[in-house]
Amino acid sequence: MNLPTHHDYSDTDLRAALQTCDAEPIHMPGAIQPCGALLRVDPAALVITHASANLRAYFDCAAEAAIGCALYEVTDPGLQTYVLEYAQRGPRSQPTGQRMRVAGHDLDVVLHWSGGAIIVELEEIPPAHRLDPDAIEPRLRHFLAGLREAQGLTALFDHLVQEVRALTGYDRVKLYQFDKDWNGEVVAEARTPEISSYKGLHFPASDIPAQARRLYTLNPIRHIIDVDYTPVPLLPAAAAADERPVDLSFAVLRSVSPIHTQYLANMNVRASMSVSILRDGQLWGLVACHHRTPLHVHYRMRMVAELYGMLFASQLNTMLLEQEQAERQRGAWLSERLREALGHVDSLRGFFAEQDVNLRLAFGAHGVAFCSRADMMRSGHTPEEPALRALLSWLDEHSPGVPFATEDCQEEFAGEAALQGISGGLLAVPYSPVDEQYIVWFRDPIVRSVNWAGTPEKALEDTRGGFRLTPRSSFELWKQEVRNRCAPWTEADLEAGRAVGLLLMENERLFAEQAMSRQAQFFADINHEMRNPMAAIVSAVEVMQRDSGLGPAQRRVVDVLAASSESLIEIVNNVLDISKIESAQFEIQSAPYDLRAVLEKVRRMYASRAEDKGLALEVKVSPRLPEHITGDAARMQQVLVNLVGNAMKFTEQGRVRLEAALDNAERAAPRLVLRVSDTGIGIPPEQQQRIFDKFAQADESISETYGGTGLGLAISRGLIQRMGGGISLHSRPGQGSTFELRLPL
Ligand code: ADP
Repeated sequence: MNLPTHHDYSDTDLRAALQTCDAEPIHMPGAIQPCGALLRVDPAALVITHASANLRAYFDCAAEAAIGCALYEVTDPGLQTYVLEYAQRGPRSQPTGQRMRVAGHDLDVVLHWSGGAIIVELEEIPPAHRLDPDAIEPRLRHFLAGLREAQGLTALFDHLVQEVRALTGYDRVKLYQFDKDWNGEVVAEARTPEISSYKGLHFPASDIPAQARRLYTLNPIRHIIDVDYTPVPLLPAAAAADERPVDLSFAVLRSVSPIHTQYLANMNVRASMSVSILRDGQLWGLVACHHRTPLHVHYRMRMVAELYGMLFASQLNTMLLEQEQAERQRGAWLSERLREALGHVDSLRGFFAEQDVNLRLAFGAHGVAFCSRADMMRSGHTPEEPALRALLSWLDEHSPGVPFATEDCQEEFAGEAALQGISGGLLAVPYSPVDEQYIVWFRDPIVRSVNWAGTPEKALEDTRGGFRLTPRSSFELWKQEVRNRCAPWTEADLEAGRAVGLLLMENERLFAEQAMSRQAQFFADINHEMRNPMAAIVSAVEVMQRDSGLGPAQRRVVDVLAASSESLIEIVNNVLDISKIESAQFEIQSAPYDLRAVLEKVRRMYASRAEDKGLALEVKVSPRLPEHITGDAARMQQVLVNLVGNAMKFTEQGRVRLEAALDNAERAAPRLVLRVSDTGIGIPPEQQQRIFDKFAQADESISETYGGTGLGLAISRGLIQRMGGGISLHSRPGQGSTFELRLPL
């Protein structure tokens, strides 16, 4: 049986092969490369079960004839003893190799266990690479010293590729690192000037299919002497459907996938070797070696290269751990800087203006923004404000109150028209427990920063099968796949982001309180400044009112003056109240008082006004109400005066009623319920929430007709909430309104 080389494949074959690429059982190709022979030997009696078709090139026996024979019948006693000793060590023993003279040939004999049998490989010794055993130890020392001395990952990577190249003589040795999606990047390269550079280039994950990666994890080294080889079949071929071909995962002569040889041929590569770099048992990267002409690297050399890979991996692990540690410290460093800054700025805006660059740098971000409904702050490369506002709504809906990260906004927000302006990736962390407020870091797409120089020469484009397999089309594929993708957010990024969010959350509250107390201070100052002149005006007006010598016109003017100055004083007092409530400076007393007496006082205050307007003013108190309740009598009176005052103001006929009762009287925790109802103009449904806001009135005509400032209900609600209660409203336009207060007893 003759297996095809890549020259025998048509484009259609290759296309089909590609589709099944992931399923190709590359660890049991049923064939080997032609630079040696392979025997599969049953360990019990050392009987040959399989032999490569080229056996006769080494022994005086055809492969077909050797099958079923005992090893000693085919080979010389030296090999027989070597295999026997290995068999006796049992199936857990490591692969082993030794140079031997077998049937007149100088060969490297390599043994390993596979599926309960021993695989005996006889590899030719390359003539050009005669091994000097004395040279290995100094080389290894030199390699180790370089690993230890390397300052940083770049130096470490460079050292590895240079040393592998010095050891093996390949034209180009590159170090290829995988990302978490198995895309690869060439992070270091050593090469002869005559061969093109791949440094910095990216390859899509599909270039190395999943089962190849699995195999690379199991067996860290593979080697192709000449991609133009004709595979040598292993006999007998698996005949029955349930018979599995020999597992050659660990065979040094294993034949490789024709797709792979095609891939290499398209890159103008004739010989290759690769060494896996594992971290925590996972494939971290590959050392990939290429040569423009056939190259057979000595088995021993390959073993040394494999050792290089292991030593490198261990040093790499140490350095990466240090780096991860440093990243965590970076988070701590940032928190420290930010904490310091928060100590001396007095607003979030001031903080942002001062720390935006630190915030960006510490996250490797191209832009950062603080986004809230009320305010947007942006620094660096960020989307425009409308997109940020849309993002805020999106975050609020899809990730409320928790951090969110994506490396590809275009993919994540596909179909969201308002978010199309956002490219690359983002990390959003909320910094307010209630409102929509996020700090968002933006990273540009990675493709912008990738150096695409050195794409392989154009001639390659015409190569047969190049529709996907040439490196050039691979790059196109990669570019397409990652056009919008940013560098990955690491666990350390997320951790640091959360820390910043918490820090801001603490300080947001502080900022808000500071702002409130500054506002309260401002109002207190104004109040003070206004009170003195107002007091002077009021007493002057009183003096004038007492003056019996005023004529009727003058008296009218003085009365207007008296009324106006009184309402001005009321406004000043209201503004002071509301600012105190908002800045939490309001002290609520807690002492027993007689609620009935308070209600009666309020009734008396409005009795003559009710009489003037022809309104009934009723007070109804439930007999179950305790004689004394605990709370703040003065504040309670303030609220009731306000509500009854409004009811009187907005009612032209009918009645105003003040009720006090107990809710849940039978239950363990009864509540006090106070109702102020009227038969007045009522409040339209759409205004019912709004009128509790500061300076809010049901509509513009109200202030013209009825006066007022729109502060009374805001103060009332603030006070009731401070008392641990709530206020609600039931109203129908034209029929009247009922304000209901509920308070814990
Ligand atoms: P002010 O009465 O000073 O305007 P308030 O905060 O006490 O401020 O009231 C806000 C608004 O709520 C009023 O302007 C009015 O539009 C509406 N309102 C309050 N109480 C009543 C009521 N009993 N009947 C009708 N509208 C009312």
